[in-house]
Amino acid sequence: MDLNFSGADLAFQREVRDWFAAHTPEALRRRVRTGQMLEREEIVNWQRRLDDRGFLVVGWPEAHGGPGWTPTQRYLFDLERAAANAPIGLSMGVIMLGPVLMAFGTDAQKAQYLPRIRRCEDWWCQGYSEPGAGSDLASLSCSAVPDGDDYVVNGSKIWTTYAHWATHMFCLVRTQKTGRKQEGISFLLIEMDRPGIDVRPIVSIDGKHHLNQVFLTDVRVPRGDLVGAPGQGWEIAKYLLTHERTSIAGVADSKAALANLLQAAGQRGWGGRTLREDAAMSLRLARAEIDLTALEYTNLRVLSSTTAGKAPGPESSLLKLMGTAVQQTLAELALEVGAELAWPWHPDGPLAESDHAHAMERHAFARACTIYGGSDEVQKSVLAKSMLARAASR
Ligand SMILES: Cc1cc2nc3c(=O)[nH]c(=O)nc-3n(C[C@H](O)[C@H](O)[C@H](O)COP(=O)(O)OP(=O)(O)OC[C@H]3O[C@@H](n4cnc5c(N)ncnc54)[C@H](O)[C@@H]3O)c2cc1C
Repeated sequence: MDLNFSGADLAFQREVRDWFAAHTPEALRRRVRTGQMLEREEIVNWQRRLDDRGFLVVGWPEAHGGPGWTPTQRYLFDLERAAANAPIGLSMGVIMLGPVLMAFGTDAQKAQYLPRIRRCEDWWCQGYSEPGAGSDLASLSCSAVPDGDDYVVNGSKIWTTYAHWATHMFCLVRTQKTGRKQEGISFLLIEMDRPGIDVRPIVSIDGKHHLNQVFLTDVRVPRGDLVGAPGQGWEIAKYLLTHERTSIAGVADSKAALANLLQAAGQRGWGGRTLREDAAMSLRLARAEIDLTALEYTNLRVLSSTTAGKAPGPESSLLKLMGTAVQQTLAELALEVGAELAWPWHPDGPLAESDHAHAMERHAFARACTIYGGSDEVQKSVLAKSMLARAASR
């Protein structure tokens, strides 16, 4: 891995920086910087603006509209995007389903769905978890039974992020009840307006509605909406999860959050001192920066190997594990720094009280990032298995 940037790379970086500076609406930047939840329309508009400029599907191959960038360019792009406090594109379609369709979908499925993912015409949600199947995902019981040209789906999915905004769900269903439980799972695409689908909200600890439980009762789905072969769903699910986990690591966004934090920590708080003058706080900030730098180098290694055509492997679990730990640390530090700066009796505090409230929400929601995409304990098991397998093969 060569970490020296060429003149062409630096010119590319400037071009990206200038574009985000000129095109990211100030209101959007502010909402991202303070960790607020974005509205559906804001996300759709922003995604289309990115796509217009060729900045959305940056990890896709050129044949499907990707820019054909080198790993270095992708890295620099993400750094600049995050540093501008600009949101990333919707991950469920762009980062998760897109690569799955390219690897396992039929030509008809690719032609139908990939362009619509890019334009955000379809909003996808992920129907993996069930009330009885989270970490032990292979135990899922939502069933799809063939009936004429359709499957008839019955069951329930839970913790389904943005199901209330989604037009479609990619869903793991059980098509066979005998044999190994992994072998009876299939990957089905379901339109959310089909009769028999009921989406009910779950309000999370931050007081917001991101999550849902989805009930499916005799939902008819054409057999042509199955991705891959019947019973191939487990293989596809795992492939998708490596992409999901790599993206959850969120290195560039953590770098931007740390930069915002360091800037705020250098401002005078209500006690008349800066938090950087506080030895204990300085040490915590330095530790966060060191952990983030170590994570960044691991991320670079994964990035350079995935662009060579390989799917990210168990390294994605390492990235997810370390990336989410850093996110939680930064959210906690932001809360403390914000508390100091937003102290109501400090007249010139640069942070409004409402920003502090958002920091509290973000901190509360950050507890979830070591659960979604597979809990910490599960990632550690994945890593242990992979290391033991490598050791045994030597
Ligand atoms: C904010 C949020 C958004 C989510 N979005 C989605 C979504 O869009 N779509 C979707 O399908 N799912 C989603 N999920 C669900 C998520 O994937 C699951 O919550 C996660 O996989 C854990 O499953 P569980 O909640 O059933 O917990 P459980 O599996 O019941 O785990 C409970 C605890 O036991 C531990 N544990 C379980 N098994 C083991 C083991 N073998 N070894 C050691 N420890 C173990 C876990 O680490 C955890 O601490 C979301 C979750 C959250 C919190």
